[in-house]
Amino acid sequence: MFYESTRGKHSSISSAEAIKLGIAPDGGLFVPSEPVTVSEELINRMTGLTYNQRAEEVLRLYLTDFTPQELKDCVYNAYNEEKFDHGLITPLHKLSDKVFILELWHGPTCAFKDIALQILPHLLTRSAQKTGETDDIVILVATSGDTGKAALEGFKNVPQTKIVVFYPNEGVSQVQKQQMVTQEGNNVSVVAVQGNFDDAQTGVKNIFGNAAAIDKFKRQHYKFSSANSINWGRLVPQVVYYFSAYADLLKMEEINSGEAINFVVPTGNFGNILAAFYARCMGLPINRLICAANENNVLTDFINSGIYDRERLFKKTLSPSMDILISSNLERLLYELTGHDSTKINEWMRELKERGKYKVAPDTYSKIKEIFWSDYASDQETLSTIKEIWKNYKYVMDTHTAVAQNVYAKYIAATGDKHKTVIASTASPFKFNESVVKALLGEAAIQGKNEFELLNVLADTGSLAIPKGLQNLDSKPVLHKQVVAKEEMLAAVENIILS
Ligand SMILES: *Cc1c(COP(=O)(O)O)cnc(C)c1O
Repeated sequence: MFYESTRGKHSSISSAEAIKLGIAPDGGLFVPSEPVTVSEELINRMTGLTYNQRAEEVLRLYLTDFTPQELKDCVYNAYNEEKFDHGLITPLHKLSDKVFILELWHGPTCAFKDIALQILPHLLTRSAQKTGETDDIVILVATSGDTGKAALEGFKNVPQTKIVVFYPNEGVSQVQKQQMVTQEGNNVSVVAVQGNFDDAQTGVKNIFGNAAAIDKFKRQHYKFSSANSINWGRLVPQVVYYFSAYADLLKMEEINSGEAINFVVPTGNFGNILAAFYARCMGLPINRLICAANENNVLTDFINSGIYDRERLFKKTLSPSMDILISSNLERLLYELTGHDSTKINEWMRELKERGKYKVAPDTYSKIKEIFWSDYASDQETLSTIKEIWKNYKYVMDTHTAVAQNVYAKYIAATGDKHKTVIASTASPFKFNESVVKALLGEAAIQGKNEFELLNVLADTGSLAIPKGLQNLDSKPVLHKQVVAKEEMLAAVENIILS
C-alpha cells in the first residue's frame, strides 16, 4: 500500500513516510492509493475480539509497512487500563431501542481526540525509526482546547520528540486551560498566544512554511511535524471504532450480520466523520452518515448545496471544539469521490484560497448527497437536548454530543428512517460542565461557581464519578506561564527548542 498526495505533485510513499511528514509538501493531504476492503466474515469475527485486536486488524490493512509486532506494540501502548478508564476503550451505551451512544471519551483527557493521539506518538516514532530518521521531531500544535491537551498527554516523555502547544489566551475554557498549563513531562511546552484560535493556527502554519526556520532547526537536528488531523496517522486509528461499534451491536444481538446502520458525528475539521466514510468504503454496512454541525454550519450548507463558502462570521458556541470554518479533511473526501482527480482538487482549493468558496461538480455532489445528510443545532437547542435526554433517559451528555443528538432528531423528523443509529459521543460531560449544569439545573446553579466547583455539582446531580484526568485539577501546580504576541511564536519555539 502506498500513499499519494491529494494535490498530485508528490511521489507515492510508504505509510511510515506519510505519517512522519504529516502534511504533503505540495500542500495536499496523504491518502491511500488503493481502496481497502474488509469481508463480512472479518466483521463477524470481530465480535469475538477485544478493542485492541480489532485495532490491529484494521491498522494492518493500511499500515502495510509495519510488522504485526510493531502494530501490536503501538496499540497496547496506547489503549490500556492505565490510560483508559473503561475496559472496552470505546463502550456503547444503549439509549433506546434504536439509538446507541458510542462513548469515545474514556481516555486521559476526556475527549475523543485521545483515541488517535494516544497512538499517534507510537506510530510516529516507529515511522521515524523505519525511515532511518536520526533527527528529533518537534510537534507544533495550535489548539482551540481539546487537541492540545490530548497531544501533550500522548507525546509526554516520548523519546526523540518534543512538543510545543499554542493556545489562544482568551479562547479556551478554565478546565481546558488548567489541563494544559499543569502538564508534566520532560519534552513538553505550553504557550499562550495573545489572539484567537485562527491567530495561533496561522502562526503555526507560518512556521511550517518558513524555509529559513526549517533550515535553522535542521542544522541542529530537529524536524517539524504535525499532530493535527491532517496526519494520516491520526485519521486511521479513528476508523477502528466504527468497526468496533458495529461488532458490539452484532455481539449484543441488536443487529443481524450485514444489516446497515447510521452514524451521527458532531463535526468540526471533518476528521472523525471522514474516518466513518473510510469504514463505509471498506465495506462496513453504513446507510447514512449524518454530519452534525453547530451554528458554524459551513458543512451543513455544503452538504445541502454543493457549495463550500467560508465567507461568514465565526461564532463562539457552547460546542467550541466544532467552532471551525475550514474543514481541512474535506479535501480527502473530495479526492476519493472524484476518483483521485487531483486536477479538480487543485482547482477547488485554489478557489477556496482566492475567493473563499468553491462549488463541486454535479457528479461529485450527487455522491455526497447519497452518503451524507446534514443539519445543525443552535446553542439553545443544544442545552434543551441535554435536559431532555436527562429527563427521558437519565443519561448526561456533553454539548458536542447533544448537537449530534439534536441533529439526529431532525433527521428522523425529515426522513422517518428506521435503521439503528450510533451517535458518536466526543466528550465527557465533565469537560464542558458549565454548559451541562446550566442545561440540567438552570442559570442560577452556575452563578458564582467556577468550573472546578461545578465538577462536583455535576457529579452529584448525575450520580457520576469525576474522571481521573479532571480530579484535583485546580490544586495542581502551574508549570507553563509563557504568554507571547502572535508575531513572537517562532521566536518562542526557537527559545524553547534551540537554547
Ligand atoms: C475535535 C472535536 C470534535 C470535532 O471533530 P472533527 O474530527 O474535527 O470533525 C467534536 N467534538 C469534540 C469534543 C472534539 O474535541
